[in-house]
Amino acid sequence: MLVAIDGPAGAGKSTVARAVADALGYTYLDTGAMYRCVGLRADAIDLADAGRLDIRFDGDRVLLDGEDVSEAIRTPEAGQAASRVATDPRVREAMVGRQRALIADGAWVAEGRDIGTVVAPDAEVKVWLDADPAERAARRGIPVEDLLERDERDATREHDPMVAAPDAVHVDTTGLTIEEVVAAIVALVPR
Ligand code: C5P
Repeated sequence: MLVAIDGPAGAGKSTVARAVADALGYTYLDTGAMYRCVGLRADAIDLADAGRLDIRFDGDRVLLDGEDVSEAIRTPEAGQAASRVATDPRVREAMVGRQRALIADGAWVAEGRDIGTVVAPDAEVKVWLDADPAERAARRGIPVEDLLERDERDATREHDPMVAAPDAVHVDTTGLTIEEVVAAIVALVPR
């Protein structure tokens, strides 16, 4: 069973996906964290070797080659670096392969930009989460221009651009509480 949650930066995906996973007793997968890890190493490695990075999740912590990078990957710079490396098809291929291997067994809530379109087009539940740009920028604590620049790069890249799956349920989180959004998504899951 897979609940795929995609959408632009600051739509509330991480908070919502984590809470949906808790409510359902599923495991949460933050695919953006994987691209952020590659972004952190962008200047140190050849991106063709991104698949060799050791990226692990340990509860809420993210370990990159054994180092706890949970805070380092959350800076606005790491977000921009992630969206730059995410345009590289070799990086995408490596990360998508790992994500598919992870979700092959068990029940998951996976969050990203291309879960319902590329990683798991057969996901049982697909959600496209969006919100007003001003609200999204405020949530991320970044200028709205920076947010729109990242959206534009994610949506127009040649490989696996960010786009809603045709069968995704659209949820606009502007003005909604987290509880309301979580309840709306949990209600979509057949049980
Ligand atoms: O969701 P988050 O802000 O952590 O994602 C960081 C960047 O990683 C995004 O801007 C996007 O470029 C990239 N990403 C992606 N595909 C995913 C998840 C994230 O391209 N499935």
